[in-house]
Amino acid sequence: MSKKVAVVTGANKGIGFAIVRELCKAKFTGDVILTARNEKLGNEAVKMLKSEGFEVSYHHLDICDQGSAKQLSNFLQKTYGGLDVLINNAGMAFKNDATETFGEQGSAKQLSNFLQKTYGGLDVLINNAGMSFKNDATETFGEQAEVTMRTNFWGTLWVCHALLPLLRPNARVVNVSSFVSKKALDTCSPQLQAKFRDTELSEEELCLLMGQFVIAAQRGNHQAQGWPNTAYGTTKIGVTVLSRIQAHFLTKTRAADGILLNACCPGWVRTDMAGSKAPKSPEEGAQTPTYLALLPEGMKEPHGQLVWDKTVQEW
Ligand code: NDP
Repeated sequence: MSKKVAVVTGANKGIGFAIVRELCKAKFTGDVILTARNEKLGNEAVKMLKSEGFEVSYHHLDICDQGSAKQLSNFLQKTYGGLDVLINNAGMAFKNDATETFGEQGSAKQLSNFLQKTYGGLDVLINNAGMSFKNDATETFGEQAEVTMRTNFWGTLWVCHALLPLLRPNARVVNVSSFVSKKALDTCSPQLQAKFRDTELSEEELCLLMGQFVIAAQRGNHQAQGWPNTAYGTTKIGVTVLSRIQAHFLTKTRAADGILLNACCPGWVRTDMAGSKAPKSPEEGAQTPTYLALLPEGMKEPHGQLVWDKTVQEW
């Protein structure tokens, strides 16, 4: 049988880089391929891991370039004859979108932990603060929606289209989504929430919905149409729902193969995307994705779930 192989996208830094290191530390029994869109940064990352004693190789992958995903697929087919682990980690966020979506939730959680630990509860809460965040980005919301959707949703989808056909029995796929997807879902109109929770929603219907969000964002009427006011959060709704659809498809088409595919949230992690105030280190952020990537053979679940802190979240 051919050697096993694991692929991590967007792994030159941040959580992706930490996932590659964790896979090596966990002694993944096969080759680990660190992919990045920037060859220089990818090779530097590989060099750093090699200096720590880990055996890792680099392959180019720009998730927004379908040709680049196809090239990686050809390479994997030729070299390994298949794929055992795929971690779709690459993603992006505009700073203002990220500050709003990560920051508030993370600091509220920190306060909650403090109150729980120190007082064991809370007696009076006055929610006085209004929304205020710095808008560093000069792009309009519509432009941000288009660009964020192209990377986080379409890019992840294109990589899946290119690589999922290579999955071997007992393969594991992890789509790095976010807790923000759930938060954004909760602020959708009841009609949209019902669609995103519908277990019969097809990939085509999901793609249409993601396209409709971008058009509404460009027209400036996304909120009137029931969409959340976050591009990043909406793209991550797409990633979480896509994972449910893909898992459903694998169950239908390859039931006997024991493949598990899940979405996850790494937590709020100190990276270029989320900033330095986040409570988790990249190593800590890599724990849940790595856990899902290494779910032992024979396990039947989780599958098609959103997993956070190694725990399945209600959608
Ligand atoms: P970083 O910004 O540190 O890293 C993002 C990585 O994705 C970089 O390697 C970047 O490459 C890569 N990337 C972006 N676009 C592409 C592309 N088109 N093709 C290939 N690679 C690309 O972010 P994080 O490490 O924080 O984020 C990793 C994942 O975790 C993302 O999906 C993010 O949404 C998710 N996440 C992060 C959280 C956090 O708190 N940090 C919380 C919840 C989810 P380059 O260096 O070339 O830009």
